[in-house]
Amino acid sequence: PLAGRVAIVTGSTSGIGLGIARALASAGSAIVLNGFGDAGAIAQLQDEFRRRHAVAVHHHSADMSDPRQVTAMIEETHARLGSADILVSNAGIQHVAAIEDFPPGKWDAILAINLSAAFHAMRAAIPLMRARGWGRIVNVASAHGLVASPFKSAYVAAKHGLVGLTKAAALELAEAGITCNAICPGYVWTPLVEKQIDDQARAHGIAREQVIRDVLLVNQPTKRFATVEEMGALTVFLCSEAAASITGTALPVDGGWTAH
Ligand code: NAD
Repeated sequence: PLAGRVAIVTGSTSGIGLGIARALASAGSAIVLNGFGDAGAIAQLQDEFRRRHAVAVHHHSADMSDPRQVTAMIEETHARLGSADILVSNAGIQHVAAIEDFPPGKWDAILAINLSAAFHAMRAAIPLMRARGWGRIVNVASAHGLVASPFKSAYVAAKHGLVGLTKAAALELAEAGITCNAICPGYVWTPLVEKQIDDQARAHGIAREQVIRDVLLVNQPTKRFATVEEMGALTVFLCSEAAASITGTALPVDGGWTAH
């Protein structure tokens, strides 16, 4: 259903972004991967995409904390692949600490990568989408874009901001054939979550197993981690023609968390 489209997925060398990139590629879209990682492993990943899905695949190493690199990624995608029809802003980082202990540099980095990068990418991609009269923007927010948890001030602020940016963009683009939506995952099993288990254990002074049961999944009524495949399938749907009237939404994929 996405044959002929070009999708840029930020932060797609790992976790949810990689799951979304795989799903978009299997729907026929050309892919621009982005994110950090070992050069050999990234080259292998590109080979795997080409073999499995027979789509064009590039990797752009733009650091999402640098607006100039974000803009360059969009412009170079357009120059190489002819368009930038689907933009998935997914790159994100987390830091867990009480506000009074929160390093200001971490606050700035989280706001830059989790929120401002989506603005800079949209700013560069929207004129290209308008020119073709079609576009899909998917911002990977979080349940923390809708509700808060303690010790995640910067992340919660950035993700609430990303939901707000999504709504404003949807209204601006409503008549242009371009939709803009946020997806709001609860806990998905990825390296980012794996790393948080130890941070949370320190912040709460409890063991890893207890963090998983009583902290991470305490608000997730299904008591299971969501999967990156689920995030990929939802993104493919949002990019399909069937989702043309879905815009400006913040869709929870959180096992019932925000139903509380
Ligand atoms: P992850 O750590 O597995 O992957 C993050 C990706 O972003 C990696 O590819 C990494 O290289 C890239 N990245 C990090 N900093 C970057 C930068 N400055 N420039 C470019 N790329 C950068 O994380 P994940 O769990 O897959 O999370 C992906 C997104 O989903 C994040 O925005 C996160 O906030 C959101 N999210 C995750 C969960 C979860 O439970 N895992 C839940 C809700 C929302």
